Amino acid sequence: MKLQELLTDLIAIDSTSVLSNEPVVAYIEEYFEGSAVKCHRLPSHEVGKFNLLLVKGEPSEDGITLCGHMDTVPATAGRWKSDPWTLTERDGSWHGRGSCDMKGFVAIAIQAIERAEINLGCVAVLLVCDEELGSFGAKYVLENGLPVSIPKQVIIGEPTSLQVVRLHKGHLSMRVSIKGVSAHTGSPHLGKNALAEGGKVICALSALSLQYEALRTDSSEHFPDVAKFPVLTVSTVKSGSAINVVPDSFELGIGMRLLPDQNKDEVVAEIKKSITDVCELPWNLEELGDNPTMLTSENSAINKWLCEYIEQKGSVGVSYGTDGGYLSHSGYECVLYGAGDIAVAHKPDEYVPVHEMETCVHTIDTAVQHFCGTGK
Ligand SMILES: [Zn+2]
Repeated sequence: MKLQELLTDLIAIDSTSVLSNEPVVAYIEEYFEGSAVKCHRLPSHEVGKFNLLLVKGEPSEDGITLCGHMDTVPATAGRWKSDPWTLTERDGSWHGRGSCDMKGFVAIAIQAIERAEINLGCVAVLLVCDEELGSFGAKYVLENGLPVSIPKQVIIGEPTSLQVVRLHKGHLSMRVSIKGVSAHTGSPHLGKNALAEGGKVICALSALSLQYEALRTDSSEHFPDVAKFPVLTVSTVKSGSAINVVPDSFELGIGMRLLPDQNKDEVVAEIKKSITDVCELPWNLEELGDNPTMLTSENSAINKWLCEYIEQKGSVGVSYGTDGGYLSHSGYECVLYGAGDIAVAHKPDEYVPVHEMETCVHTIDTAVQHFCGTGK
């Protein structure tokens, strides 16, 4: 099957994160029926959603793992120039939901393992669900263990416009809750205003956010000018029921994009101190989600080989999270490398340039040959 045909089929199967991804998993299993590639369908955090591990060769920590996610963000047909679920070639690019993020790479990985010849270790393709919701598929798989060993050197095919990315920020979601006492506003002495205290907390965290803007760590140099610092955002607020009632509760949603070499516990302690300094009512901070940072050594085999192969000097960091956070915290050495631009990824008319896909196919095949000992 040609790459374009395979990608056409994958895009035609709607695997928006809210849906079950069983149809796309079943399609890939059928693709490999009777072949030398072994498919392991793995459970995930949610009934009806699966992760899928493909292995060719004897399971081993040597060789190479290719990783991608099967889910996509939603698409609203009316806002697209062509149907989002029909791969359409236009201006030298393939358009369709997931073409760039990241069914394009999933198709490349499927065909790379199909073609692979192996002298050393194995080739694994780890396909996960619900990356777009917060890497829940990858998190589940790594916490519950894989059925067989897979190679420690990993390429994750997120769209990087064919740059090698060895570090990215993490994203920590938190909620601050403040408890007050409700009262009629005519008797304010009977109440304790949680919203007024919350206002002080918002100001304190905004001040802390400005301090972070001035902070630089060793990893800062690898990020573009607008993203060299950790980003703290006060994002959502819930409080108050009526204008004549003293609010008895306040909830603030905050997001923290950590630099890869920051210590999460220290940062959380700084946030808590800022709140303690201003808030006079009982409060609580909960962690709602923690998408870890990725920091792969410059000298890791995968980073060194790939940077040399594509002739990239220096390291590149990105500000979004990926499955590489959980993978690298579980001892895998990960880089991101894939066709297409992340800037078009979650938008209408998402596309991937055909020539970048062709380059990516060639690079991945060569990586497989190199790490599986069949290269020249
Ligand atoms: Zn993605």
